[in-house]
Amino acid sequence: KFVDSAIRALVAEMADIMYAAHGVGLAAPQVGRSLRLLVYDAGGGLQALINPQVSKEKGEQYEPEEGCLSIPGLRGVVRRPSQIYVHALTANGHPVRFKARDFEARIICHEVDHLNGILFTDRADPKTLHMLTPEEQAAEREPTP
Ligand SMILES: [Zn+2]
Repeated sequence: KFVDSAIRALVAEMADIMYAAHGVGLAAPQVGRSLRLLVYDAGGGLQALINPQVSKEKGEQYEPEEGCLSIPGLRGVVRRPSQIYVHALTANGHPVRFKARDFEARIICHEVDHLNGILFTDRADPKTLHMLTPEEQAAEREPTP
């Protein structure tokens, strides 16, 4: 079976890393694994997607500013679709198809970009990229993908 216990163990490990870092998303390449796997939590609990495909994008959104667990402290404005359709496999190997909007759509787009070797800095409006100060980083509790 394609999705085995090793994948489920990796999902659990990635979720631990993500939550410990106050993140809202993490892609397998960020933990050194070349797998098309991502985890995220847009506020509704942990989700894991294997081989996610995004299609039928519509609308656009510019907020909140994006950051990345792989580039601590950096923020910038990234245009993302406000609605996407996703199809993927769950960590249990079940095919799923769903519509994601707003913050959830932003997170999924950010993490799917990681699977394709693209960082948010590649898409951000360059003049909006900025580093948080150490004080801002310490105070920061806002989740970042
Ligand atoms: Zn990231």
